[in-house]
Amino acid sequence: MELESPIESNFRLNDFQKAGLKKLGLKTIRDLLFYLPSRYGDAAEVKHITELKAGELTVISGRVIKNEIKKAHIKKIPIAEVTLEDDTGRIKAIWFHQAYMAKKVPEGGLAKITGMVTDRKGTLYIANGEIEAVEEIELAHKSSLFAKGELTRTPVYGESLGASSSWFHHTIKKLIKAGVHEKLTDPIPNEILKKYHLPALRSALVWIHCPQNDNDALSARKRFAFEEIFFIQLSRQKEKLKYKANPTFQIVVDPKQVNEFLGRFSFKPTGAQINSIDQILKDLSSNKPMTRLLEGDVGSGKTAVAATVAHMTISNRPMNIEGSARQDFGALQVAYMAPTEILAKQHFESFIQYFKHLGINVGLITGSGCFKFPSKSSPGQFTNISRAQLLKWVANGEIPILIGTHALIQKSVKFKHLALVIIDEQHRFGVEQRFKIARKTTETVPHLLSMTATPIPRTLALTIYGDLDLTIIDQMPEGRRQIITEIVLPANRKLIYEQVRKSINEGRQAYIICPRIDEPDPEKEQAVNAKSVKEEAKRLKKDIFPEFEIGIVHGKLVPKAKEKVMKDFTDGKINILIATSVIEVGVNVPNATTILIEGAERFGLAQLHQLRGRVIRSNHQAYCYVFTDSKTEKTLDRLRALKTAKNGFELAELDLQQRGIGELNGKKQWGVSDIGMEAIKNIKMVEAARTEVVNILERDPELLNHPLILNKLTLRHKPTHFE
Ligand code: ADP
Ligand code: MG
Repeated sequence: MELESPIESNFRLNDFQKAGLKKLGLKTIRDLLFYLPSRYGDAAEVKHITELKAGELTVISGRVIKNEIKKAHIKKIPIAEVTLEDDTGRIKAIWFHQAYMAKKVPEGGLAKITGMVTDRKGTLYIANGEIEAVEEIELAHKSSLFAKGELTRTPVYGESLGASSSWFHHTIKKLIKAGVHEKLTDPIPNEILKKYHLPALRSALVWIHCPQNDNDALSARKRFAFEEIFFIQLSRQKEKLKYKANPTFQIVVDPKQVNEFLGRFSFKPTGAQINSIDQILKDLSSNKPMTRLLEGDVGSGKTAVAATVAHMTISNRPMNIEGSARQDFGALQVAYMAPTEILAKQHFESFIQYFKHLGINVGLITGSGCFKFPSKSSPGQFTNISRAQLLKWVANGEIPILIGTHALIQKSVKFKHLALVIIDEQHRFGVEQRFKIARKTTETVPHLLSMTATPIPRTLALTIYGDLDLTIIDQMPEGRRQIITEIVLPANRKLIYEQVRKSINEGRQAYIICPRIDEPDPEKEQAVNAKSVKEEAKRLKKDIFPEFEIGIVHGKLVPKAKEKVMKDFTDGKINILIATSVIEVGVNVPNATTILIEGAERFGLAQLHQLRGRVIRSNHQAYCYVFTDSKTEKTLDRLRALKTAKNGFELAELDLQQRGIGELNGKKQWGVSDIGMEAIKNIKMVEAARTEVVNILERDPELLNHPLILNKLTLRHKPTHFE
């Protein structure tokens, strides 16, 4: 079996299995070998049949003396029955609705069954277990596969259509038995493995797919987690080094000018804002291009920081790259990119406020039009201009500040002296885009400032933003009205509805967030006791708020319908907007001051924090009502952190520690697999990976002496199991 050969030329697959593998993106034997189990089933103890007791999870093995398919008396559902015999006795295993289970092993053959021992009227049987055929030789080497009293755990793989967990389990076991993994070379240097007590690649593959005990499985998982984090960091750091090797514009910082600019603000900047400005200006004044990420909660004042450093940048005259004569015309330029038109427009308007006293031009470019401030005819205003005109002024340097959406990174947009690129809500843009906009000038590259309000734990930031230096604004402006957050128990529901009614009658608006769009389909899903957007809208309109306009919005609405609802809400035609947790980033309705979150125990804390951020957009008192049906002290405690935590980042850390990786909001977009996320919990491991990456790249930036690492890095860019 060749590592790169297609799965289908090695195994007979039915159409269902083919479709499942395709969906999971698994093509080759290598892909299969690296398709890691997401967890392990409960530990089952290997026993003799006569020792079995009801209620225990067990593994038994023996000969199949009978297999048949029957119909149950009630409802006539098909039942598969297999009778297994070992040296001590016999037992039946039964499957409901899964008649094919009986056909998995022929009568007379050997089998292993893992499952729950159940008592029916005094007779023991095994219900809905896992059955697999065992070869004679395996039984002869009984000790290696299963010895009495041993604990075995079955790996559980992510499934899709016909590619079931047990198919993966058996197929991958065959690969390991055939020794396919022996052909692999380990991309992680031996010294590093030794230093952190990590198993080598080959052992790790055996241990993770066919663990003999919990420790092996654990240490294998640790290795793959490390490996993933190591390679993400390596690729990011490499990008960073490459970027930093370019010449850039060295900004001369004049503290007096900075202070003057800050002095004009209508508020006193926070200490955290001042620190951030200092750090960024220090980067700008060096001769290496900056790659920095500014993290701060919604409302922490990132725009003011951006404006200040933009101001210092455009106050500089372009210098020749060699640093010789200063040109005495034009200024350096700043590009400011936002993910949505609404946000871009908002930034344009605040930048006009920050810069209007200087008489400089500020441009706005979006898909639906171009604008310039100031207007020639009425200098206090901005004006609509043609795209061609705007592009001309950007290209000749007459517009020093250009704000926009994705439209900014189009080829046709050319700058004269682009020195600073600011990217707002940077997680909405890929790493590729981050550098694409930055490469708009040929020989010199601009400084890069990314900004985000998405609270993620520090370890995750260090990894996925490994190409960026980190600055955190951990302080909110003083005198802000604090949002009032209440954890609401079911008994107080009516009371809260009255509060909402009162606030709407005073002219405000409200959001209600539900965990799901539709009611569950009882045929397909277990009844989940969570409110749905559609049902809740009907119920509230009928029973609670008949006098108000209620609108709904969720991911399954077509864009046109979504826009209409959002516009009606913005215009105040809708009083209450019922939505799933994915209300658009661009939503900014200052008049909405209450948010009510249903089934809050289903959300991560950081996510809840971001949701409530939507209603702190005005001078009105904002309220967040967190509804939960959960009565467990642990869940309530967790939710109470919303009242005590200082900021979103603290909540993200709490999420990570308390609920674990699966709960981190939007983890898919980060391109980190579940196993990689396990490492994110472990600051030591993340730091270790970082240290090793920096060590290697310092000595060997092009990885010329590390061909295995380089090879793996290139492989990573192909779609694989973790993407
Ligand atoms: P974000 O970090 O979410 O981008 P913004 O920059 O939009 O936050 O700032 C939110 C609001 O807070 C703006 O109206 C801004 O003028 C105001 N603001 C910023 N810094 C301060 C401060 N230090 N004190 C008071 N208000 C501030
Ligand atoms: Mg902002």
